[in-house]
Amino acid sequence: MPTPIQTHLSTPLPRPPGYRGRFAPSPTGALHFGSLVTALASYLDARAAGGAWLVRIDDLDRTREVAGARDAILTALEAHGLLWDETPVVQSTRTERYADWLQRLAPATYSCSCSRRDLDGLTGRYPGTCRSGLAAGAQARAIRVCVPAGPVEIHDRIQGPCRQDVQAAVGDFVIRRADGPFAYQFSAVIDDAEAGITDIVRGADLLESTPRQQVLQQLLGLPVPRHAHLPLAVDASGRKLSKQSQSMPIDNARPAEGLHHALQFLGQSVAPDLMGAGPRQLLPWAIAHWNIEAVPRSGTRPAPAPSLPSH
Ligand SMILES: [Zn+2]
Repeated sequence: MPTPIQTHLSTPLPRPPGYRGRFAPSPTGALHFGSLVTALASYLDARAAGGAWLVRIDDLDRTREVAGARDAILTALEAHGLLWDETPVVQSTRTERYADWLQRLAPATYSCSCSRRDLDGLTGRYPGTCRSGLAAGAQARAIRVCVPAGPVEIHDRIQGPCRQDVQAAVGDFVIRRADGPFAYQFSAVIDDAEAGITDIVRGADLLESTPRQQVLQQLLGLPVPRHAHLPLAVDASGRKLSKQSQSMPIDNARPAEGLHHALQFLGQSVAPDLMGAGPRQLLPWAIAHWNIEAVPRSGTRPAPAPSLPSH
């Protein structure tokens, strides 16, 4: 059993009416530069707004979980001075809540018996094969949601306006597999709503999920949070940094270096007299000077070289 996660506050904060943000890593490896960028941006955006900043552990995909990664991520956040409010939510403990919400959504869902092979050759859009019911004797493999036709509009604070007709592009998407796990789209929407999240700051790789999440928010009558999708850090060969590829883990012993690089990556020009400053000096400055307008919009940006001299 992993150790219980402690909040940094002895008593939970009363839920303020204002900004509530979150960082939601998957425990699939150590925190790397790309996830530090995401954590820092969501932290600064929340703190600059005088808001709460929460951490959620997105561990529904147990097959990808790496032992000890959850604690390692939290330790890395603490080492970089990114201290969260409230006890982190762990998705794998919340299956009953997801099941409750699935009940509410039931009138807009249906069982699907299509196998991977049945769906092969399709262009990624599910054509609604099982919408009118399963054939006699067919076994349900997934639950899908009936997606209304028409475009979903997103006003992303960094990427600008985006739109997608989810029905035309994706079709009725899966919200739960028959073998149990709830889909990311569904669990994230439920967790964000129950935690009162008002603002989501995350990597641009999740921009494509946002319209599906908005469909679910609309069907469930939930508020739609504001979004800001950050450019992705890539390695020298242009691949997205990932915990699984063990690309560029950050060094907890040199938090100033990681934070400086992350601020640069986010387009925040650090005052020269703060070069070499540690998190205690750097973070209050970065909160006071946080400028989301300066965050570059482009989908990918190279991360700084991993081996730089210590300040
Ligand atoms: Zn089907």
